[in-house]
Amino acid sequence: MAAMILDGKVVAAAVKAEVAAEVARLDQAPGLATVLVGDDPASHAYVRGKRRDAAEVGIRSIHHEVAADATEAELFDLIAELNADDSVDGILVQLPLPSHLDGEATVERIDPAKDVDGLHPFNLGQLVLDRPGLRPCTPSGVIRILDHYGIPTAGKSALVIGRSFLVGRPLALMLSAKGADATVSVAHSRTSDLASVSAEVDIVVAAVGVPRLVTKDFVKPGATVIDVGINRVGERLVGDVAFEEVLEVAGAVTPVPGGVGPMTRAMLLVNTVTAAKARSVLYSQLE
Ligand code: NAD
Repeated sequence: MAAMILDGKVVAAAVKAEVAAEVARLDQAPGLATVLVGDDPASHAYVRGKRRDAAEVGIRSIHHEVAADATEAELFDLIAELNADDSVDGILVQLPLPSHLDGEATVERIDPAKDVDGLHPFNLGQLVLDRPGLRPCTPSGVIRILDHYGIPTAGKSALVIGRSFLVGRPLALMLSAKGADATVSVAHSRTSDLASVSAEVDIVVAAVGVPRLVTKDFVKPGATVIDVGINRVGERLVGDVAFEEVLEVAGAVTPVPGGVGPMTRAMLLVNTVTAAKARSVLYSQLE
């Protein structure tokens, strides 16, 4: 029997409706600042999409474009301004940055309370400690898809392929945290016999960036397969999973496009509202 398709567009729409309702209950619309450095067309398209999403749910967006040859000092000054601006609840610096700028150092300049990408070392540390904090959007989106479709994780075995700080590592922590309770392994470019390791588990997440790496040999019959990869092959966007053949073996699969991608965008909105609410609690305590 063909696998169930886990439709990220459907889940993202449900998340956005929840966010819109939450925004409507707030005294003030949350503000999301987007910072776009340089002329990379893909980055421009991503930020346009994020601003459109924000508008749809009633989040104000405050957009800054920075020249491709801006200095680190100029970029850091802008971030300092946004950190100090009370009308800004979330700050998103679109990555990657032009090669003369350091993405990690830039993220570290963002006030952790406004770090809606959840990538500041403080927020990643909160995740390691299983304390509240802003969580990275893509891993949160994966967890949300599993929840939405009622795919159990507790007591299940999961393999996360990829160990980046953006996706693989935080996702492995989130899947093994209390509440999700999966037994998690992490694979990477030095893992030997990846297909056999993968074929043992109940949930496989591919976050690699290699088109169609995960073939049907990687998948235990009935397993859930989550494809985080986004790869451009000619004119087409494909994931890390050989979707058609995996569909025949798996119990459930996310497509690319239309799987994890829309969820990443939706979770940014969730984080923006979370940041706005946390800041308003802080202010009410100060009054
Ligand atoms: P990355 O390049 O930082 O990390 C890739 C990881 O894959 C590394 O840990 C590496 O060890 C591992 N790897 C590389 N080749 C491998 C192989 N042959 N076998 C096993 N592991 C291997 O990438 P990233 O930022 O984590 O992104 C991964 C993919 O996810 C990319 O395609 C990216 O475009 C996509 N992505 C999608 C979203 C989304 O919203 N859907 C968000 C972020 C990233």
